[in-house]
Amino acid sequence: MNYNITLPDGSVRSVAAGSTPLDVATSISRGLAERALAARVDGTVVELTRPFSADARLELLTWDDTDGKSTFWHSSAHVLAEAIEAEYPGVKLTIGPPIENGFYYDIDFGGQVFSQADFARIEKKFLELARSGETFERRSVTKAEAIAFYAARNNEYKLELIEGLADGDITFYHSGNFVDLCRGPHLANSKVIKAVKIMNTAGAYWRGDEKRPMLTRVYAVSFPKQSDLDEHLKNLEEAKKRDHRRLGQELELFTFSEAVGKGLPLWLPKGTQMREDLERFLRELQRKAGYLPVITPHIGHRKLYETSGHWDKYGKDSFQPINTPEDEQFMLKPMNCPHHCEIYKSKPRSYRELPLRLAEFGTVYRYEQSGELHGLTRVRGFTVDDSHIFCRPDQVQSEFESVVDLVLYIIRMFGFKDFTAQESRRDPENKQKYIGSDEMWEQAEAAIAQAAKTKGLKTVVELGEAAFYGPKLDFIVRDALGRRWQLGTVQVDYNLPKRFNLEYIGSDNQPHTPVMIHRAPFGSMERFIAVLLEHTGGELPLWLAPLQARVLPISDRFNDYGREVVAALDAAGVRAELDERSEKVNRKIRDAELAKVPFMLVVGEKEQAMRGAALRRHGQGEGHGDLGTLSLDEAVATVRQRIAESLEV
Ligand SMILES: [Zn+2]
Ligand SMILES: [Zn+2]
Repeated sequence: MNYNITLPDGSVRSVAAGSTPLDVATSISRGLAERALAARVDGTVVELTRPFSADARLELLTWDDTDGKSTFWHSSAHVLAEAIEAEYPGVKLTIGPPIENGFYYDIDFGGQVFSQADFARIEKKFLELARSGETFERRSVTKAEAIAFYAARNNEYKLELIEGLADGDITFYHSGNFVDLCRGPHLANSKVIKAVKIMNTAGAYWRGDEKRPMLTRVYAVSFPKQSDLDEHLKNLEEAKKRDHRRLGQELELFTFSEAVGKGLPLWLPKGTQMREDLERFLRELQRKAGYLPVITPHIGHRKLYETSGHWDKYGKDSFQPINTPEDEQFMLKPMNCPHHCEIYKSKPRSYRELPLRLAEFGTVYRYEQSGELHGLTRVRGFTVDDSHIFCRPDQVQSEFESVVDLVLYIIRMFGFKDFTAQESRRDPENKQKYIGSDEMWEQAEAAIAQAAKTKGLKTVVELGEAAFYGPKLDFIVRDALGRRWQLGTVQVDYNLPKRFNLEYIGSDNQPHTPVMIHRAPFGSMERFIAVLLEHTGGELPLWLAPLQARVLPISDRFNDYGREVVAALDAAGVRAELDERSEKVNRKIRDAELAKVPFMLVVGEKEQAMRGAALRRHGQGEGHGDLGTLSLDEAVATVRQRIAESLEV
């Protein structure tokens, strides 16, 4: 008997019963068979060695697929546990999942000490086991068998896990002498794991419950090549230097205060300067693109969010409602959309007025667990560069195109050379999960696809990633360290206009429901600034640098003249300050370089006499930043010109 296996390119291979994905990979090419880590069969990730049981669609997953990587890391967690068990007899294993950058295993060491000093020994043991070429063998066990196995090992954690599993649905995986309760899938063989690094350990409560025992979470990462691990570690070092939380402090951009509250950033003068420049930049782009500015309050009536559906989504876990003595309930605004819908409704609308593009830098608040908060990327209050475009169905595509133009302009402007656009569509096999007619969905998805095509975007299509109320286009940039960040998003929405009974009078004199497009090219001001800091390492575009020039007198005698130079820069719109410390000028230059101040103007005897300054550009390396001694007018003009150039794409 034969099965028909359909490959992603549409070609079909007929294979004998008992054949596996690995057999198919081998029949395609030896290289592919070596690179393949797991297989996706009819949408489910399985081992390469699992025989086909019917005709199927097959994708072979490599290191470049998220699921391939996860399988690699999860299998590595087994090997790590095996290594630790070998060195620490009697430890109790619990769970070991893959995570975004590696994997962990939560282990009860039962009083045995496991610390940094032991990492190298365990890594050595890990590689020894991996190299021995262990295969991961799947075995179905009965619930009774599984319970007996772990009861004999006094492992109450696994017993608790087994309790929650249905009999007939339990599998053990054997690799070498190691056995673990696991659903799989795994690699075919451990020998593809060539490099490992235990990163750190942390305390973790069993099942995240602080009343349960504290386990040791061992974080590690593994790779198919040693050079991949080396590069990963190098990038981590670099990422530390570029951490926006660190740069935010060094450059005095923002701070957090426990007294104000967790996850609520406080913008310092320099950071505020930067934010205002960013806002001004986008406001101007939006003005040219026909957006109209609006301002709405930070709170809204609970009923407003019941109408919008946000009460259901954010109400329970959100901040508690604010009660007034008049029996009203208000919520901190989690989204700006409902407010903008009410602005739309402020007067009757005609088809001639559409599209109506309302834009606001709208601050919203959402509850996040304190443990989830992270610098500016995960906060409890943030400002969205929000806009809602209300348009007719026949305008969706052209509106989408102009939003794409705006997003692309911004991505290029800020030096992101590499990005992907993801078309998030509904799951065609699960249509009941979404609202709106088939016709509307098809029209909207086609409009997005066509807009992307017209703009020459290379997109990936993700089925089932749409919101329940409409498809969207997400922009994901890669930063200088190759990390991916989701920035702008553009979303078509048929739901809110209905919920809010929005209408316009069409050319047929009949009422119609407009379509709503939500879009935020930055995502949020906080997130965008974080990404920009990490991408640039704090070397911000000149026009955005909170401090653009520092005047460095070579001794106190020239401080007065230095003040005049600062005044001249200031009058020309250049943000400048004077370094009037009694330090040697070399020290002042070094400090200005460290603070990433783009321009330095050194003044001494000669410069004062000629009413000029020695101009230096930051970051050009020893002896390369010198732009010469110029008259004050020339120096100011040079700085201004460079700033203007930095605004060109
Ligand atoms: Zn497993
Ligand atoms: Zn919105």
